[in-house]
Amino acid sequence: MKFTQLHLEPAIVDALELMNYKDATAVQEQVIPLLLQGERVLARAQTGSGKTAAFAIPLCQMLDIEERDPQVLILAPTRELALQIKQETANIGKFRKVRVSAVYGRHPVHLQQQELRQRVHVVVGTPGRVLDLIQKGILQTQRIRQVVLDEADEMLSMGFIDQVDEILSLLPKEKKIHLFSATMPPPVLELYKHYATDHKMVEM
Ligand code: AMP
Repeated sequence: MKFTQLHLEPAIVDALELMNYKDATAVQEQVIPLLLQGERVLARAQTGSGKTAAFAIPLCQMLDIEERDPQVLILAPTRELALQIKQETANIGKFRKVRVSAVYGRHPVHLQQQELRQRVHVVVGTPGRVLDLIQKGILQTQRIRQVVLDEADEMLSMGFIDQVDEILSLLPKEKKIHLFSATMPPPVLELYKHYATDHKMVEM
């Protein structure tokens, strides 16, 4: 399916064209309309399926560009993945002027603090550092309305479950949580169901 059939704004379609993304992948075809309709999504999707753009495209389209504080929080298990997601989201949001910041451990907090003082729409980070920045009052959470748990099974197997749980409990009640994972072990499902009772399931 062409991206133009998915009710995307010209600014987003133009960015995808520049990235040389011509057709939506299967996961994008399913996830983009659901997120645009305001649904919560639980998706079983492998790396390589185009899952990053599947959530980044609708989230970039829906965010309020005038707002100063972060509206979207994406949690990922590793610094490498966080940086990849940041890059892809920034590319997708290029013509909407979406600003994305990545935060992760073993990197000076003061540099991330400087970045977070500017207007940032999307924050991508590893759970430990995100929790730390929230607890220090550096990462503002009042405006966060959309949360993505990417590679949730990996976050779990790396021992991040308690931190993810704590972050979610600190975010505003009206947030929507979306979960992407290659596998769905019971603890991943339990965590998700605890926070998001009403969701759409996408299986690739
Ligand atoms: P991901 O599953 O998000 O790790 O994406 C896998 C790779 O596919 C990345 O290198 C993306 O840049 C690329 N990609 C994602 N969506 C598309 C698309 N619709 N058309 C072409 N390449 C894509």
